[in-house]
Amino acid sequence: MRVSELAEALGVNAVDLVKKLIALGVMASVNQAVDYDSAEVLVSEYDKVLKKEETADISDFENFEIEEKAEDLLERPPVVTIMGHVDHGKTTLLDAIRKTNVASGEAGGITQAIGAYSVQCHGKLITFIDTPGHAAFTEMRARGASITDIVIIIVAADDGVMPQTKEAIDHAKAAGVPILVAINKIDKPEANIDRIMSELVENGLTPEEWGGDIVVNKISAKTGVGIDELLENILLVAEMEGYKANPHRYASGAVVEAKKDNKIGSVATLLIQNGTLRLGDPIVIGNYFGKVRTLKNDKGQNIVEAGPSTPVEVTGISEVPSAGDKFMAFESEKQAKQIAEERRLRSKEQDQNFSGMTLEELFGRIQEGVKEIKVVLKADVNGSLEAVKGALEKIDVEGVKVNVIRGAVGAITESDVVLASASNAIIIGFNVRGNTKTMDTAKQYGITIKTYDIIYKIVEDMEKAMKGMLDPEYEEKVMGTLEVRQLFKFSKVGLIAGCHVTSGVVKSNQKARIIRDDVVVYNGSVNTLQHEKDQVKEVKKDMDCGITLVNCQDYKEGDMIEVYELVEIAR
Ligand code: GDP
Repeated sequence: MRVSELAEALGVNAVDLVKKLIALGVMASVNQAVDYDSAEVLVSEYDKVLKKEETADISDFENFEIEEKAEDLLERPPVVTIMGHVDHGKTTLLDAIRKTNVASGEAGGITQAIGAYSVQCHGKLITFIDTPGHAAFTEMRARGASITDIVIIIVAADDGVMPQTKEAIDHAKAAGVPILVAINKIDKPEANIDRIMSELVENGLTPEEWGGDIVVNKISAKTGVGIDELLENILLVAEMEGYKANPHRYASGAVVEAKKDNKIGSVATLLIQNGTLRLGDPIVIGNYFGKVRTLKNDKGQNIVEAGPSTPVEVTGISEVPSAGDKFMAFESEKQAKQIAEERRLRSKEQDQNFSGMTLEELFGRIQEGVKEIKVVLKADVNGSLEAVKGALEKIDVEGVKVNVIRGAVGAITESDVVLASASNAIIIGFNVRGNTKTMDTAKQYGITIKTYDIIYKIVEDMEKAMKGMLDPEYEEKVMGTLEVRQLFKFSKVGLIAGCHVTSGVVKSNQKARIIRDDVVVYNGSVNTLQHEKDQVKEVKKDMDCGITLVNCQDYKEGDMIEVYELVEIAR
């Protein structure tokens, strides 16, 4: 409610309200909105009561449920995603499906302009979303954008159910959508369909022909065998599920992918989930306002409108949105702008809750009531990104969960650090690191960057941290170096290495290693240290000394001895 509206409702002068607000420490002009709490105080001053009207907030369109009348709902095409292990034939299958469609008389060529397309089968449309790996699928789901109606799990008949297949199954199951299986590459002589079937059973997908409820399609994306049947089976599922939408309203849906084009600015592939999107529509994508400047279909042709389940490419948005961002079109530019602004403010508020924290601090925060651990995750490839993300999101320590607020492929960058700082997140790198500048920025912001190369270790660390059971972590710190210059042999003590301390300080209780021609040939600790005739506790740079190492008789002139300590480091 604006201050002016509140004044009108109370029958008082708006300027008086502004003054009262200032007294409350709230700076708002007559035309600005007043928050609920302040309004409540103001209203009580006039002996009135403020009542919250329980209306859905359309600006929160991720959670805004549009109630549709049954008569407005029309059948819409099913939206299908294909997922599976790398090299099992997802791309080939998507291409094959597109070509089938072209052969059936579709004009316009087969160049796929965007990451999603529609095909026709028996006069009905099916929309395929080509998500780059499971990452996008998961990310979209994490953002509440369930764009897929049906998931096809593709398994190569010559390979079997692999780790990413399992993950795909998990994600599809978690999404609660119907699953169809496509056993691909059946043209190959080594294809072993029965083995795949039993592996499917092991992973909770029992084929219909084995008494379960999973429709298994045996196909060859290469030769085209079985693809028609697969499409027919998709239509059967669609018929049973009865996907519907209302084309007679402003469009809403989700971003499939987006990029920045140097010439035309931000370009986004959108999936329209409800309503009809028209050229020129004011639109809010994520937190940004836009106006549909160009509208193209999946073949790159300009169109003027598109209905439910249609993938389109739009330009005219002020920023590049992220995959999975929801969008909504509005009647007026003013409303769209206002909603984008509200959303931006809200997300800023959510982000500004606190700044970065260390793994050690996690437990304390959880005890203070933090229910969600935010993580910025960077990984080397989509597959591992998706796997780590999945593993992190499964963590549940007494109701506290991990939320991957950004999951992306590539090195850790300064923008990740900034995001982590804005959202009080931890940064996790899987098989990737950040450059020196990024690490410095992270230090400056107090952001923890942890890098790993084993997934279970990430999960273990996070869980331990969340339970406050983190073991201290140590780092080797080289304290001094010596050069072996001469060997002395004694009958009682054996070999003593006569050394010159080339850097630092050498102490008798330190750990030590011998490096010979750049190779570590011994790793243990200092046994005795002697200066001239005396046993000493330490020797410093530029001094000579005699050293023996525990259980070591192998010294050579020219060896380098490095002494080091393990120091506890902050996580
Ligand atoms: P993706 O990583 O899942 O997208 O897999 P691709 O579609 O790139 O396929 C991986 C490899 O398998 C490519 O060399 C394809 O030519 C081959 N391939 C895909 N489908 C079939 C098939 O049905 N039969 C045979 N023989 N090879 C296939």
